[in-house]
Amino acid sequence: MFESLSERLGGVFERLRGRGALTEADVRTAMREVRIALLEADVALPVARDFVEKVTEKAIGHEVLRSVTPGQQVVKIVHDALVDMLGPDTAELSIDVTPPAVIMLVGLQGSGKTTTTAKLSRLLKSQGKKVMMASLDVNRPAAQEQLAVLGTQTEVQTLPIVAGQQPVEIARRALNAARLQGYDVLMLDTAGRLHVDQALMDEMKAVADIARPNEILLVVDSLTGQDAVNVATSFSEQVPLTGVILTRMDGDARGGAALSMRAVTGKPIKFAGMGEKLDALEPFHPKRVAGRILG
Ligand code: GDP
Repeated sequence: MFESLSERLGGVFERLRGRGALTEADVRTAMREVRIALLEADVALPVARDFVEKVTEKAIGHEVLRSVTPGQQVVKIVHDALVDMLGPDTAELSIDVTPPAVIMLVGLQGSGKTTTTAKLSRLLKSQGKKVMMASLDVNRPAAQEQLAVLGTQTEVQTLPIVAGQQPVEIARRALNAARLQGYDVLMLDTAGRLHVDQALMDEMKAVADIARPNEILLVVDSLTGQDAVNVATSFSEQVPLTGVILTRMDGDARGGAALSMRAVTGKPIKFAGMGEKLDALEPFHPKRVAGRILG
């Protein structure tokens, strides 16, 4: 994960640490390199620029340059700024409500939404929650069956399929079933599209009006870099997203989506998909991720 960014930054830091004393010019040169590394990682331009400005301002302070280990101090400033950029803390789910808590997953087709619905259900089940999943995807053939299969694999209940129902009707039926049968959490997997379009947004809004979700999580593919951030911006303009799940982080050598998401959209990344297997979903820990990037 994020190997190429990590390698680039590693080189910059090695040069910084290698010097006894640092001048302002040294710091500025290093920060130019950091900026290039961030842009190569597909971090959004304004985010990379802000980051470098903030770090430079702190790093050329007298206390830093005159300290015994200026290189180390600059590296620490970069580390703290990275954590800040990724989000200050692990963002918890707000599901401590009168049951059933409703979690709605939205996103484009192929982003990993259905798989993530099953992964998150499995995770919540392992934490002792009684979870039901329902697929509202009536567009993609066999989408509802795909979730049912994942339900069998994860031993999570899925709402029985009734042919011909529309998303809002399915949401209503799922909510009733979850209430009557005493479920703690209802997971709603919504239909995706190839692109953000109005029909998709209208459908999501109609479902959200009925289901009143406690969480609306956007699933985006981390490999798509800044596109993932653009998708998140479009969605958050239309529906009140409570967070983002970044999938395929296991294959992301660059990290641009993870690094820009919070700053551009204001939405926290709550989970990271780390593989195809159903146990490959982790809470997103900004500190841990910053640590991995900085090696
Ligand atoms: P949907 O169209 O958004 O519902 O996407 P799917 O859930 O069907 O996922 C599409 C493909 O992405 C499947 O082959 C998944 O196994 C794969 N996938 C989903 N999440 C991850 C992840 O975190 N890492 C990897 N490597 N593959 C993933």
